[in-house]
Amino acid sequence: MTGKTHASCGLLVGALTIEYFHTDLFTSITVITLAVISSLLPDICHAQSKIGRRFKVLSFFIRLLFGHRTFTHSLLFISIIICLLYAIQTPIYYLITIILGMLSHVILDMLTPRGVKFLYPIPISVKFPLVFKTGGLVDLSLASALTIGATYVFFQPFIKQLFF
Ligand SMILES: [Zn+2]
Repeated sequence: MTGKTHASCGLLVGALTIEYFHTDLFTSITVITLAVISSLLPDICHAQSKIGRRFKVLSFFIRLLFGHRTFTHSLLFISIIICLLYAIQTPIYYLITIILGMLSHVILDMLTPRGVKFLYPIPISVKFPLVFKTGGLVDLSLASALTIGATYVFFQPFIKQLFF
């Protein structure tokens, strides 16, 4: 999936998290930012990705060590991040949004023909029975649908206040 699709899914995750936890404005902005970053984070192994271009050197070494869509798209990687965040006593709403952001990335990549090495280092590609080409019509429609969903969740309280 394209970076745009991942980022819009991150946006939706962030919007759902602030809706669930009723966070204040500052926390909400942080939650949304973290959600979008973590939804792009697994592609750090890809030098051409949105996040890989920002961290070229790191991206190069990760790719050299593990290859694309392996370690950073695995249950192992997500578990390590959870442990680290837990160790530094990250507030629950940040923790949840980061985990869901990363999971959303992995799940979306499971919808592509290449799949992901979710059980890395076990070399099995995990993907859904139905897959779509990156940058194809489904990918682009998904990006729009997710953005609309995120906008709806985000503005839902205001809309309710206006009409009811
Ligand atoms: Zn990916």
